[in-house]
Amino acid sequence: MFMWIQFCGNCSYSSKDITVEIKSAIETIISKDYKIILKDSQLSPLVKKFLCYAMILEKDGDQRMAMFKTLHAAWVCDDNRNSFKALECRNKALSLMDKFRSGEEDTNIDLIKIDLLRRTEKFEEAIDFCKTLNFEGELAEVVRIQIELCLNKDIRAHTIASFKKIVINRQNLGTGKKEFVFR
Ligand SMILES: [Zn+2]
Repeated sequence: MFMWIQFCGNCSYSSKDITVEIKSAIETIISKDYKIILKDSQLSPLVKKFLCYAMILEKDGDQRMAMFKTLHAAWVCDDNRNSFKALECRNKALSLMDKFRSGEEDTNIDLIKIDLLRRTEKFEEAIDFCKTLNFEGELAEVVRIQIELCLNKDIRAHTIASFKKIVINRQNLGTGKKEFVFR
């Protein structure tokens, strides 16, 4: 994942491509909040880079991409077994999501939101949100599994691949056939 992000050691600019300038970035880079991230000893260098980039994007008005970069920071925290900071990142990602969600249909974002709510222990909110969704087929199955995980108060990571396994296992039980749900 380190290839997804670049960081300038001279000026601390963080971006997916530091040769491309984001106009408002300089203001963010010199801000106190940006420096707080850089100085946080509980964050690994890679997490800092993602969070810095997320902050630049957020201040530049791209809440959606800022949410994704904050989510990536959470994944790195997971890899580092830093559950406290992973939780912080996920809560931040949720707050960013509220800033760009327009209520339009956006399946990918909806699925991420369910997972963020569950992994930040907002089980009831997650279940309520699931009930507002009208997915069909395998997506409905993923939502159903998420509700089950919430009822079990399970905050562990479940990737799409592991959902796939669960769905396949369930289908095996029913039909004896092996079917891949996500392609
Ligand atoms: Zn620089």
